[in-house]
Amino acid sequence: MTVYLWVRTLETEIFKMTIVFATHNQNKIAEIQELMPEYILIKSLTDIGCHNDIPETADTLAGNAKLKSEYIFKHYKINCFADDTGLEIEALNGEPGIKSARYASETERSDERNMEKVLRKLSGITNRKAQFRTVISLYLDGIAYVFEGICEGTITEVKSGAKGFGYDPIFIPAGHTKTFAEMTMAEKNAISHRGKAVAGLINFLNNYKV
Ligand code: IMP
Repeated sequence: MTVYLWVRTLETEIFKMTIVFATHNQNKIAEIQELMPEYILIKSLTDIGCHNDIPETADTLAGNAKLKSEYIFKHYKINCFADDTGLEIEALNGEPGIKSARYASETERSDERNMEKVLRKLSGITNRKAQFRTVISLYLDGIAYVFEGICEGTITEVKSGAKGFGYDPIFIPAGHTKTFAEMTMAEKNAISHRGKAVAGLINFLNNYKV
């Protein structure tokens, strides 16, 4: 039994390709590991001992995702990817965009205050069109690749629902009547910006192996 287990472990270790996902968020790591082909092992920044402040100084989501993945690739010489997501509201000229995490305050991350700011700025405005955009930047064997996922929808007048995070309670995806915060995680993942970007990444990695 012990010998069998040892051989199995050795087998999977040998054939596993390690890719670092440039995040400390264990939920994101677990979610993405679940979706990956079996031969890929996802490691977090914590796993590789990276606690540095990685620069996020670009003025686009793609720029920030690339800065993060490039940083890890250059410092650790390891295959890696990074993501960046933003909510883009048409009537606010694409705001909050890259400022989505800290829209209400530069120093504090508060989902509640961010949503209040959006609702206040959209007060009296009938154009409620918005979209979430996720960009993933991958460095694989020294070459950079980009994957993008967009989910179009509208901003509600009031918050609704308690699931999810961020701006979920004020965003209704196109073709639906519930906010993201009223959907199960599986319902959201099937149509979300992140789900689409990750699907592109996984599809690429599946074909890369052969
Ligand atoms: P990050 O790039 O994934 O860290 O996302 C930046 C910010 O965008 C988060 O802090 C949230 O405010 C917002 N955000 C990202 N993804 C979502 C989502 O799926 N639903 C709602 N808000 C999100």
